[in-house]
Amino acid sequence: VMHLAIIGCGQLARMMALAGWRLGATFSFLAEPDENTSGVDRLGTVVKRTPELTGQALFDALGQPSSVTVEREHVDVELLKTLQPFCLVAPNPDAILVSQHRGREKDFMAAHGIATAPYKVATGRANLKDAVLHIGLPVIIKTCEQGYDGKGQWLIRDSQALEETLSDIPDHVECVVEGFVNFSKEVSIISARSSSGECAYYPLTENEHRQGILVSSIAPADVPSESTLQQADKIANTILEKLDYVGILSIEFFVVGDQLVVNEIAPRVHNSGHWTQSAGIASQFENHIRAISGLPLGETKPKTQAAMLNLLGKEVDETLLNQGNLEIHLYNKSLRPGRKVGHVNLWHIDRAPLVKQLKELHQQVYGDD
Ligand code: ATP
Ligand code: MG
Ligand code: MG
Repeated sequence: VMHLAIIGCGQLARMMALAGWRLGATFSFLAEPDENTSGVDRLGTVVKRTPELTGQALFDALGQPSSVTVEREHVDVELLKTLQPFCLVAPNPDAILVSQHRGREKDFMAAHGIATAPYKVATGRANLKDAVLHIGLPVIIKTCEQGYDGKGQWLIRDSQALEETLSDIPDHVECVVEGFVNFSKEVSIISARSSSGECAYYPLTENEHRQGILVSSIAPADVPSESTLQQADKIANTILEKLDYVGILSIEFFVVGDQLVVNEIAPRVHNSGHWTQSAGIASQFENHIRAISGLPLGETKPKTQAAMLNLLGKEVDETLLNQGNLEIHLYNKSLRPGRKVGHVNLWHIDRAPLVKQLKELHQQVYGDD
């Protein structure tokens, strides 16, 4: 029996395990002391993290898995390294390290000729101000570490806002100052690399964000040209190879003209790839499990076009269950305002009816919010 361990106990861990169970795998999960584990409690053994649990002790507590993977980039990389003598850690800790720090991530892109927003890393008021003047307004300032769902970010349009924001940012926090990108769309790619070095790419996905949080996706993305699609695969391939990556890697882009500019990467399965559960042959979750288990990758060409709507602090109406081309995924979390508690996938052969249905569903779930 194949036994795998996941660092983290949220919905991404849950959906990886659900896909893995179907392939005959069993699971254990590592939880932070205060982590909510309701999504994975019945899907395997949950181990609470303690300071003594490192290396062999952690490997044993996790049930001696053949591979360990992660559901988020904010993990203790040093702890992961202590597991490497005992099992495969995928993606590798050095790849995760690149994605944990926005400055390091952008330096990595620059070193490999991949376009990002103009940027400068700075700490403290005076340096931040210099960096902003150097990049030119408008800018977005982001903390280098720990941010997600748009947290730890400040959009600055004019010099008055600059002064106000600078007094809000603590003096010791390292930040990246990014030029504001005037994009036409946001898209992302879910890519995969197996342990034998085989690569695969799902079609580019188009993403709608509100207040920095993903609300809906539609795939394949409607992009300016064939060359835009080719750029996405090429950039993903470069990053996968240079990081000697194993597993699913997700990349968020801005579309500017017919060019792609990298916003950020995530060393894991991604919310914008959830549609692959319904319209994929192998979902992103299945391909991640395959990749970290030494199996060949599954098909990434979708069966139909697809869309996904996040349930952010919302329940779905049971009448939805009557729609034939609709699938509901719930994470077994309690409802709180804005909390990601599930998502709905839709699919259709044609784009126009899919877009229409997504709009109607959005209205039904969120009203005029
Ligand atoms: P995630 O939850 O995806 O990890 P995050 O907190 O890491 O989000 P980003 O992806 O860096 O945040 O930014 C959130 C959103 O803010 C982006 O999807 C985009 O809409 C907007 N944004 C970020 N950086 C820029 C930029 N340089 N120019 C224009 N818009 C931006
Ligand atoms: Mg992010
Ligand atoms: Mg993002």
